[in-house]
Amino acid sequence: MSEEPDLLETLSLARDFLEREIGFGPGQVTRVDLGGVDEDLSADGLTVLEEVACACQKCELAQTRSSVVFGSGHLGAGIMFVGEAPGAEEDRQGIPFVGAAGQLLTRMIEAIGLTRDDVYIANVIKCRPPNNRDPKPDEIAACQPFLIEQLDLIKPTVICTLGRFAAQTLLQSSDSMGRLRGRVFDYQGIHLVPTYHPAALLRNEQWKRPTWEDLKLVRKLYDGIVI
Ligand code: URA
Repeated sequence: MSEEPDLLETLSLARDFLEREIGFGPGQVTRVDLGGVDEDLSADGLTVLEEVACACQKCELAQTRSSVVFGSGHLGAGIMFVGEAPGAEEDRQGIPFVGAAGQLLTRMIEAIGLTRDDVYIANVIKCRPPNNRDPKPDEIAACQPFLIEQLDLIKPTVICTLGRFAAQTLLQSSDSMGRLRGRVFDYQGIHLVPTYHPAALLRNEQWKRPTWEDLKLVRKLYDGIVI
């Protein structure tokens, strides 16, 4: 079977995405650097989406970022962790969750018998807010299409949101973490388990126990155990 249809599908996905969500007109699509994917028949939709994200200028964070921190992992990962926004170390390396909170997230993943290579890790916001301030509503709105498209491509069995920004964004809710956690939500047919952000756990020891309960729930859902 020829690999060409896959490539065409990939490029068409990128084009649709650009036109629909990022606001590039049809004539402008070719201006985006697709990183030579037209010569790489193995390129997948995620790769193209990352190239699009790296060219994004939709909010003011584009002016101050060093890297676009798109996500790490592979298509088909069964669990997707969604955090808030890159910090200083992530901005330097271009990889999500590699600072102090990231080291704790790595241990949390290992505690449920998996490694970072088994899961996909992303953030609501792909660029670092200066001085680690909270993301602004317009930044979340500008970046949300990337997250939605990542979810659509990866199709995890379980989403585990880390902290209130990720839970509130995906659930379109303004409820507090205290109200959201401890429950399983449905996000377009995917189980969604909200839990605390690892950075919050570093400051609030008492949230580690409930987070462990949430992680065990994530593992059960991943294993197909009906709750
Ligand atoms: N905090 C987040 O929410 N995401 C990261 O990638 C790092 C820290």
